[in-house]
Amino acid sequence: MESCGMMTAMQSWDGVRLGLMALGYRRVLWVHIHCLAHGLFRRGETEELEFYPCPTCQQACKASILAEGFTRQNLPFAPELIVTPLSSQTRLQLLAKPRIVKPRRVADRHARKTRRVYQSIE
Ligand SMILES: [Zn+2]
Repeated sequence: MESCGMMTAMQSWDGVRLGLMALGYRRVLWVHIHCLAHGLFRRGETEELEFYPCPTCQQACKASILAEGFTRQNLPFAPELIVTPLSSQTRLQLLAKPRIVKPRRVADRHARKTRRVYQSIE
């Protein structure tokens, strides 16, 4: 049965996990923390948290868990900035409602010159 196969796969992963833990490895959850003001951070956590504060402003951020791994280093890992935040101008442009801008009439400084050239040809 299919479900049995899945169970076996999970059990073997548990086995690997227990083996690694016995060797002194600890579980690490790789998390992406996304702060609108400060950018995207990657962090290694020991476990899932209630909320993920931005490393810079400590505000609760949108977070997604990327992967589970094992490490012998001390946890949690220092946050690492992966994507710098958008500039305030870009953010405003993204948030702004699209508005239809009428083309501005620009005085054509060369129009008169062009006309003069045509006249001289005629
Ligand atoms: Zn922040």
